[in-house]
Amino acid sequence: MRLLVVEDDADLNRLLVGALKDAGYVVDSARDGEEGHFLGETEPYDAVVLDIGLPQMDGVTVLEKWRKSGKTMPVLILTARDRWSDKVAGFDAGADDYVTKPFYTEEVLARLRALLRRASGHATSELDCGPVRIDTRAAKVTVNGNPVKLTSLEYRLLAYLAHHQGRVVSRSELVEHLYDQDFDRDSNTIEVFIGRIRKKLGINVIHTMRGLGYRLAAPGEGAQTDALR
Ligand code: CA
Repeated sequence: MRLLVVEDDADLNRLLVGALKDAGYVVDSARDGEEGHFLGETEPYDAVVLDIGLPQMDGVTVLEKWRKSGKTMPVLILTARDRWSDKVAGFDAGADDYVTKPFYTEEVLARLRALLRRASGHATSELDCGPVRIDTRAAKVTVNGNPVKLTSLEYRLLAYLAHHQGRVVSRSELVEHLYDQDFDRDSNTIEVFIGRIRKKLGINVIHTMRGLGYRLAAPGEGAQTDALR
């Protein structure tokens, strides 16, 4: 999952980006409204944390512009404690949720998890695919209850497919959502990571759709439980 943080306060920006990266997300950040607007307009984010009081362009305007141009990613706005009118303006502009400053980063993380799973139609933080369970709160994966050790990139890849369960996800989409903007992207490495994940899970729940991409079996579909060597 790739996120964007738009916050002009340098310390707060660093704090948020650090906490989100620690939680396993890929994070880009901007320090003013214009840059934030540009990034949200040109890069595919799974969710955005957007401060309302920003230089160059305020957060409400940024959000209005995104929505007007058809950008539907979930947006969590950050508002000052005494500015209730910011919340109203933010929701009217298309915000999905808000957090009031000062906040605990845990609350921001929990609200983002909720936004991400709602955007993908999941009701809980645990995503199941046959015997494979992805706990998005703890960033942990189990198969039949047994923990599986994945690297952070492997986890991100599996979690992205799980959030889009049942749909074919192309390699280029995966690359765009798994690496930040500065990363040297090579879509061929995705296949290598898919292979490693399959091996670690020990069962094949990720189906290769030749020429199209990958697809994680939908919940009701039943996993293809043939063992892999
Ligand atoms: Ca601010």
